[in-house]
Amino acid sequence: MSATIIDGRAIAKDLRAQIKDQVSTLPSQPGLAVILVGDDPASHVYVNNKIKATVNCGMRSIEKRLPADVSAEKIASVIHELNNDKDVHGILLQLPLPKHLDADPLIQMIAPEKDVDGLTFANIGKLVAGDKSGLVPCTPQGSLKLIKSVKDNLSGLHAVIIGRSLLFGKPMGQLLLQENCTVTQAHSRTKDLPALCAEADILIAAVGQPQMVTADWVKAGAIIIDVGINRIGEKTLVGDVDFDTAKEKVAAITPVPGGVGPMTIACLLANTLKAYENIH
Ligand code: NDP
Repeated sequence: MSATIIDGRAIAKDLRAQIKDQVSTLPSQPGLAVILVGDDPASHVYVNNKIKATVNCGMRSIEKRLPADVSAEKIASVIHELNNDKDVHGILLQLPLPKHLDADPLIQMIAPEKDVDGLTFANIGKLVAGDKSGLVPCTPQGSLKLIKSVKDNLSGLHAVIIGRSLLFGKPMGQLLLQENCTVTQAHSRTKDLPALCAEADILIAAVGQPQMVTADWVKAGAIIIDVGINRIGEKTLVGDVDFDTAKEKVAAITPVPGGVGPMTIACLLANTLKAYENIH
């Protein structure tokens, strides 16, 4: 059996088109501000892609580019200014920050109603409480849409998530609990990870270890979501799952690239639209 390859690019394109249609009916333009600190090349590529996608769907892009040696106070004042700007509906602090800066207190300064990354305590709390008015982190939100593109009713399925970060693993677990999955959250101290993964109806890998999950770890017929982005040499990107072998055994799987990645930006735009609607 060869798996359905979940086409994140196509699903993200549809989502962006829907958002563009909705934006075209609004009385004013939603604005998304990105704060980019320093010159991390991967962050620059990612931010440029975000800007392009924002403008393409009819939203306004605001960029605040700050030097690598900027102080936390200066970033705080930029966040404060954006919080108070009525033409800005979404604020994103691009991570990682340079080493001398602690991201956590800065993230918590973002007004929760503009926190399109869903990382403020108010939005995390809403997610855990099941309050749908909150903003949900983009990558788990996009990953759930990919799962639902191949299976609508997830009730009772066993989902194993490898990874427990605040950015991905924890919110992913909450979203799947809301779908009535039985959720197991695995991490670096989990014992016998291959045996645990082999029980998963839905297996989500968000580790950052190239091709760690091999075909013998996966259950026949499972849905596999590969969140990992690992650079091999100059040009090659691979996920956390050994795609070529796993795809022969499972029901559906996301490729890397072209799976989860494109959904992250599409869901950022969806969050900006939701923030605009909540604010107005
Ligand atoms: P973190 O480094 O914050 O978290 C990694 C998690 O993996 C931790 O919970 C860690 O466990 C766990 N882990 C590490 N090694 C092992 C191991 N050998 N066995 C089991 N668990 C392990 O990363 P993120 O959650 O931020 O991101 C994970 C991956 O997803 C990265 O490759 C990142 O590039 C990618 N990513 C992709 C995005 C996209 O848009 N496609 C967006 C965000 C992330 P512990 O907690 O015990 O340390």
